[in-house]
Amino acid sequence: MEQNTEKKDRSCWPRMDEEKIRAAYQFNDVYINFLTRAKTEREAVEEIIRLAEDKGFKDISKIDAIKPGDKIIITSKGKVAALAVIGSEPLQEGLNLVVSHIDSPRLDLKARPAYEADGMALLKTHYYGGIKKYQWLAMPLALHGVVVKKDGRVIKVVLGENPTEPVLTISDLLPHLAKDQMEKKMSEAINAESLNALIGTRPETGCGNDPIKTYIMKLLQEKYNIDEDDFTSAELQLVPAYPAREVGLDRSMVGAYGQDDRVCAYTSLMAALEVEQPQRTALCLFVDKEEIGSSGNTGLQSLLIENIVSDIMNKAGVKDYYSLRQALSLSSALSADVNAAVDPNYPEVFEKMNCSFMSNGVVVTKYTGSRGKSGSNDANPEFIARIRRLFDEAGVVWQVGELGKVDIGGGGTVAQYMAYYGMEVVDCGVALLGMHSPFEVASKLDIYMAYLGYKAFMQKF
Ligand code: MN
Ligand code: MN
Repeated sequence: MEQNTEKKDRSCWPRMDEEKIRAAYQFNDVYINFLTRAKTEREAVEEIIRLAEDKGFKDISKIDAIKPGDKIIITSKGKVAALAVIGSEPLQEGLNLVVSHIDSPRLDLKARPAYEADGMALLKTHYYGGIKKYQWLAMPLALHGVVVKKDGRVIKVVLGENPTEPVLTISDLLPHLAKDQMEKKMSEAINAESLNALIGTRPETGCGNDPIKTYIMKLLQEKYNIDEDDFTSAELQLVPAYPAREVGLDRSMVGAYGQDDRVCAYTSLMAALEVEQPQRTALCLFVDKEEIGSSGNTGLQSLLIENIVSDIMNKAGVKDYYSLRQALSLSSALSADVNAAVDPNYPEVFEKMNCSFMSNGVVVTKYTGSRGKSGSNDANPEFIARIRRLFDEAGVVWQVGELGKVDIGGGGTVAQYMAYYGMEVVDCGVALLGMHSPFEVASKLDIYMAYLGYKAFMQKF
């Protein structure tokens, strides 16, 4: 049977008046600036802290005892942030969490990246997350991150964002000489070890070995006070050097690097900043390492959630382990992550009755996973029913979502690591075109609906 359920009746456009559409566009103006400023997890944490402090949130270290209505910031390792608005109900009765991730696929520099070949200096990279390697060639790349000197000093690097600054790039093979390459499988056409970024061609005068690399290292020493060994204690990432932009003649979309998952991070951040005196404590959490499986001590497979909630409970004078277990298991959560929007250029991978569409609102995804839902959280219908009621009553336009056709691929989110505690959790986020590409596209109205949905959830679920 031909599937022709286009869900045109579910579009946000006829459900929003001119004033609401204008509000959505204005919301996205600021979002676009955020995307351009925050291209790494560390930069996102800095933006989150800055905006939260402006709204009266205080670092938990500066608070002796918390009381209902208090607004708290908790951070970890400069790569994780949490904003809490303390509710009037005891914490043991559960919190309302919205959890997004602020890491995105990219190219990390290796520990010993610099070398010289054929009259050029290059930097070796190791890709982070699921990328299609060909998408990272022949484009301007900016270098972001930190270098930590042996004495502990942290040097921040942002190179290539200001139009007056130079960029780096990875060359692609010319079509004239790509006959063999073009016949390869796409996954094998680009070798990961050929993702080496061009950083210079000028030699140091009177220098015997590697004069071009030597000259680049001299420039790095002058500009940032870093030497070659300092790369071993650094986190330097190559990301697209261009800013986020409006897409479409009607300016109805946002195109940018890193919208997975900073679109959910930003919308939940804006929602958390507006939560006032909730009944249940609202906890808006921004985590790292999702793109590589939530491993490491800034990823959700660690005790991160448990540590953050116990920090809050400790300040409320609740110090026993049973109360912490209770608080976590009685919590409700939205796993705020993106889904794939139906793409008319690739209709063969989507099942149009159950996949999400651009401009049809925030996506509620019952389950993710691969094949027979492997690796999925598969949210409980009793919980989804309550989310349906919340969103409908709050005027949030929403849609169901599934990641493509069954057996065509798949993916996961952090939902399963939250479900571990016994809390109710469902995936809820924005549909993207070109997820994980260097220029992901989202609908401004969907972005606005995610914000409204997260706000309703944290304020009154
Ligand atoms: Mn994601
Ligand atoms: Mn992702």
